[in-house]
Amino acid sequence: MEKKEALYEGKAKIVYSTDDEDLIIQYFKDDATAFNALKKGTIIGKGVVNNEVSSKLFELLKENGIPTHFVKILSEREMLCLSLEIIPIEVVMRNVVAGSLSKRTGLAEGYVLKRPVLEYYLKDDDLGDPLINCSHIEVLELVEKDTLDKVSGYAQKINGILKTYFDKRDLTLVDFKLEFGLHKGVVYLGDEISPDTCRLWDKETGAKMDKDRFRRDLGNVEEAYKEVLKRVCG
Ligand code: UDP
Repeated sequence: MEKKEALYEGKAKIVYSTDDEDLIIQYFKDDATAFNALKKGTIIGKGVVNNEVSSKLFELLKENGIPTHFVKILSEREMLCLSLEIIPIEVVMRNVVAGSLSKRTGLAEGYVLKRPVLEYYLKDDDLGDPLINCSHIEVLELVEKDTLDKVSGYAQKINGILKTYFDKRDLTLVDFKLEFGLHKGVVYLGDEISPDTCRLWDKETGAKMDKDRFRRDLGNVEEAYKEVLKRVCG
């Protein structure tokens, strides 16, 4: 399997084609952005952590019957994946109030939700990824109805699996973002699952162990990412 040209460079990853048209390589960078790229920086070693944490969590999900794009880890920063046609929707699952949900509803950060909340955001940087609902998704023809049903079912199942897994490692899964895509008409979970895309709070102290340390200038960012790696993969 041979790595070929860069197909796409995003904020945190580069996607390369391979000599197999069904497969791509995700390369994880140390670059960090927040607030729709208004804030930029570097978190040293983040790419390695995110690649290893994502690989471990994709394997866990696969074992639990969730189809994911993950094929295998190739190196410290590279993962071999199925090539997906990404659905332009960011799926957010929440167990505890934080971030934009607190701003939107007035509920205090840390309020434990009675049941998980599922949200959809339109994947569009120029529009700032606005919150959308099923009716918008239908009118914008972002995805077929049966595919959206599958996506929402997987998102809820994934939340259950990850919540339990993190809980055993003394981390509260506050919220997280997922992206899905299609390969030959089949829905797969894509992208990554890492401290960049999840809010993880230490169960004992409530300390933030995720990208909020970078977003909010809380310090010890690298240390938090390394601790998550240790707890998830150690
Ligand atoms: N998230 C993400 N990418 C985005 C927006 C959000 O990975 O472009 C994740 C974020 O890390 C958090 C969850 O989705 O775990 C919910 O984020 P929220 O809507 O609270 O937005 P924020 O306050 O982080 O901008």
